Amino acid sequence: MSHHIKGQGRQQTTLFPEALDDFVSEDNPVRVIDIFVDEIDLSELGFERVYAKQTGRPGYHPATLLKLYIYGYLNRIQSSRRLEKESHRNVELMWLLERLMPDFKTIADFRKNNGKAIKGVCRQFIELCRQMNMFSDSLIAIDGSKFKAVNNKSRNYTPSKMKFHISRIENSIQEYLDGLDKHDKGSQQAEEKASSSKLRWLRERLAELKDMEKTVQEHPDKQVSLTDPDSRLMKVHHLSRQVCYNVQSAVDTKHHLIVSHDIVQSTDRGHLTLIAKQVQQAINKQDITVIADKGYFSRNDIKSLDDLGVTALVPQIDTSGAKRKGIFNKSLFRYNKQKDVYICPAGEELQNRMRGFDSGLELDLYFNNIACRDCNIRVKCTTAKRDPRRMRRWVHETLIDTMQATLDATPEITVLRKQTVEHPFGSIKMWMGSTHFLMRRLDNVKTEMSLHVLAYNLRRMITIFGVPSLISAIKA
Ligand code: SF4
Repeated sequence: MSHHIKGQGRQQTTLFPEALDDFVSEDNPVRVIDIFVDEIDLSELGFERVYAKQTGRPGYHPATLLKLYIYGYLNRIQSSRRLEKESHRNVELMWLLERLMPDFKTIADFRKNNGKAIKGVCRQFIELCRQMNMFSDSLIAIDGSKFKAVNNKSRNYTPSKMKFHISRIENSIQEYLDGLDKHDKGSQQAEEKASSSKLRWLRERLAELKDMEKTVQEHPDKQVSLTDPDSRLMKVHHLSRQVCYNVQSAVDTKHHLIVSHDIVQSTDRGHLTLIAKQVQQAINKQDITVIADKGYFSRNDIKSLDDLGVTALVPQIDTSGAKRKGIFNKSLFRYNKQKDVYICPAGEELQNRMRGFDSGLELDLYFNNIACRDCNIRVKCTTAKRDPRRMRRWVHETLIDTMQATLDATPEITVLRKQTVEHPFGSIKMWMGSTHFLMRRLDNVKTEMSLHVLAYNLRRMITIFGVPSLISAIKA
C-alpha cells in the first residue's frame, strides 16, 4: 500500500536530546560568520562594550550583535524588528547567537552606535581577501549607482519645485478672488468671503512656501529634503528622478569583489580621485588602473590620479557644443606635438598664441587670423563674424590623448567595466528590495552600505571557496 513520508509527532520526546550544532551543517555559511567575527579584535575596531562593565545589568557582547547583523544582511533581513523575530524562530540564528534573543531596540542601537567600527569590519574582510590574493593585477572598475533614501519626492524641495508650487497657489488665490468679485461685486459679502477658511488656508500655504523657498535658496546645494536632510534629488534614469544617495564602488575585475565604497550626495563627476585613493589604501598598492564611464570625466581628476601614480581610463565627453551649433567638431582638428600647432580641416596650422585660465584649468589658445579670414569653408567652422576659430588645449592634454589612445586600442575595456560593476550593484539592490536604505542621515546610511558590502563580499568568497576552505583561510 502506498503512503507518504511521515513527520515526527509534535509531542514525542527523544531519548537523547539533539544538540543545536546537529542542525547546522558543516558547509552552512553561518559558520563562516561565526569564525570571522570571533577572529576580529573588536575593541581595536572601536566597538562599544567589548569589556563588560563592573556594575549595572550585563549587556550583550558586540560579537553577538555583529554576527546577527552580518547574518541579517546576508539573508535579506535588515530591519531590527525582523531580526528580533528571526532570533526566536530561526535555527541558524539560535546556533549563531547561542540562543540569545536581543530585543529590536538593542539591535537597532548597536547599528546606530557602532557605525565607524562596522565600517572597520568591512575593511577587515577586504584585507582578508587581499591576503588571500583575491585581487587582480590592480585593474579596478569604478561606478556609481543611486540608492533610494528614506525621503519621499514630495518632501524634497528645489528652486524649480518651489516656483511651480508658489505659482500654483498664487493662481488659486487669484481665481478665488476673481470668483468672489464676479458674484458679489460691490457688496460687503465679498470682504467677508475673502477671509473665508479656504482663502485663509491658501494664504497660509503661500507664506509657508515662501519661507521654504528662502531656505532652499540659502542651502549650499539649493535643495531641502525634510525626512532625511542628507539625501538629494538625483536623476535615476533619463526621465526619472528620485531622492537618493549616490553609492560609489570600486570593484576588482578578477572576482568582482568590492574593494572600496563610499557614499556621495552629488553626481559621479569629481569623485574619481577620492575612490582611487581608497582603493590604493585598501589593496596597499599605488600603481593601479581604474576604469570608469564618461560620467567621471574630469581633467582635474585625471591629473590628480596621474600624480598619485594611478592610470585612469575614462572616455572623454564632448562639451564644446560644436554639434549643436553645426560647426566642425574638435576631433577634426589634429594636434601636432612637434610643432605645437593644430591642423584644421582646411589643412591650415593654428599656432599657440597665448595661455590663460578657464574653470580652474590652465589652457593654451591656438588660432590663425589670416587663414580663417580667407577660408572658404569658414561657415562650417565658426559662428563668429570676424574672429578666427580658436582651439583651446589644456596644458596636460597629453594625459587625455594617451588615455583615449589606450581606450581606442582596447575596446574590450568598456565591456569589462560594465560586466564588473553591474554584478555587485545588481545583487545588492535585489537584496535590499525596492525600499533600499532603511536609515536616515549620511553616517547611518554609510554604516548600512558597509554591511551590504561586507555581506556581498562574504557571499562571493563563499561561492568561490566554499565554507570549509574559507573557514580554514580565516583561521590561518
Ligand atoms: S575657419 Fe580657420 S580653422 Fe576653420 S577650417 Fe577655415 S582656416 Fe581652418
